[in-house]
Amino acid sequence: MTSSIMEPARETPVVGSFDVIVAGGGPAGVIAAVAAARSGARTLLIERYGFVGGMATSALVTPISEFRVDGRQHIGGIPLELMRLAAELGGAELERDSGNWPVNDEIFKLAAQRMLLDAGVTLLLHTWFADVVAADGRISHVIVQNKAGRVAYACEAVVDCTGDADVVRAAGLPTTKGDVLQPATLWFQLGGVDTDALQYVFGDAVDGILPVSESIRARLAELHEAGEVPLFGGPWINSFFHDGLVSINVLREPTDASDPEWFSRTETNLREKMHALIEVLRREFPEFRDAWLAKSGIQTGVRETHHIVGLYELVKDDILHPKAFPDTVAKGAHTIDVHHTDSIDQNDFVILRRPYNVPFRSLVPQGSENLVTAGRCLCADGPGFGSVRVMATCMAMGQGAGSAAALAVQHGLSMSDMDFEMLRRTLIEADAIVDFDNVAALAGKD
Ligand SMILES: Cc1cc2nc3c(=O)[nH]c(=O)nc-3n(C[C@H](O)[C@H](O)[C@H](O)COP(=O)(O)OP(=O)(O)OC[C@H]3O[C@@H](n4cnc5c(N)ncnc54)[C@H](O)[C@@H]3O)c2cc1C
Repeated sequence: MTSSIMEPARETPVVGSFDVIVAGGGPAGVIAAVAAARSGARTLLIERYGFVGGMATSALVTPISEFRVDGRQHIGGIPLELMRLAAELGGAELERDSGNWPVNDEIFKLAAQRMLLDAGVTLLLHTWFADVVAADGRISHVIVQNKAGRVAYACEAVVDCTGDADVVRAAGLPTTKGDVLQPATLWFQLGGVDTDALQYVFGDAVDGILPVSESIRARLAELHEAGEVPLFGGPWINSFFHDGLVSINVLREPTDASDPEWFSRTETNLREKMHALIEVLRREFPEFRDAWLAKSGIQTGVRETHHIVGLYELVKDDILHPKAFPDTVAKGAHTIDVHHTDSIDQNDFVILRRPYNVPFRSLVPQGSENLVTAGRCLCADGPGFGSVRVMATCMAMGQGAGSAAALAVQHGLSMSDMDFEMLRRTLIEADAIVDFDNVAALAGKD
């Protein structure tokens, strides 16, 4: 077999033109697109599925972490507005002091799409981002594949929110992957559960730690030792807005989701394991005796693949000792939480008691002119990523990146030459929280 082929050259129709194109409609991409559109940019959002929400909807990751730490808000702006809209629609609970807010995945889809359409974003669903056309480091066109074939959209700026840095890699800019990627999880929802008896595991996070049923965990651990239960974490079990329905984060498997053959094996393995585990839950725990599988993620949840090589790398020290970055666009406060690939425990676990700052530069790929990222592909080391990867912070990054993309178009700026003060003013006017109180107020208390 030959190792490569030359495809014939082809003419690709240009079917539209936008100021800002956002690739990927997950938590980061939704907010990036809304921010760009509200700043006056003609904005296109490309999403491979028929709905938006990313891991929160396609993989059922439904606790949105973390809007608050110690009862104090550190994420505001468009992400908070989206959560409020989801709550108004009956699908989010915003009363928890930890700021770890449960959402209903179906309502999250609805709230996010309403917000996008109200902001004037053009939504292109069922469409796969495929490639870019770039000259001198500037992306002039984004190429997509969908039922219309392979078509191009002209653009002035691009925000890569694919989570896997698909646009950055297509543009030939450097990315990196850690030696060990965090494992994947096929998340599922069970009906018919005795949720009254399980009330004790549905509480708020205390000290950044979500409650786990120690008795369920201990028994699963024994069965895992005996080879009867596959690798697992938690289990973290959320009540799910309806009596009898729970949402479970438990299965765990090492994989690389950017390796399609490996990830295909992961999907099929985890589907077998999920059904086997549900049998164990029914057999072992009275609360689950009548449980039935209501829904599983339409894809296995992916925590980590490629990271950009950015203008700044967010490292563990930045998480533990917050810095007053002049280009702060988001804050995070999630525990440093790295899931083991070969044990049922968490690695590097550190509880945080105050928020830290995320600089815009950690979203800008080295060598980029008009391309910025947001979300889980940002430039961060392992422990830094272990904290910053959660959805409230990814959404706040989205607001920063989408606003920056619009400013870049309006003022002829490149991403590596962003006017930090102008970006900061824009974010503050839109209620984002980018102050340095967390640094000033707590200086000297390390
Ligand atoms: C099992 C698990 C548990 C987690 N637990 C929590 C938790 O408790 N709390 C929390 O806050 N966070 C949690 N996270 C982390 C969080 O879900 C992710 O880090 C977050 O969703 C990242 O957001 P994102 O927008 O960067 O990427 P994603 O959510 O991955 O969204 C990327 C979007 O881009 C689309 N896309 C990708 N490639 C293409 C392409 N080529 N063309 C078109 N569309 C494309 C995808 O379909 C998707 O909609 C968990 C993650 C997992 C997997």
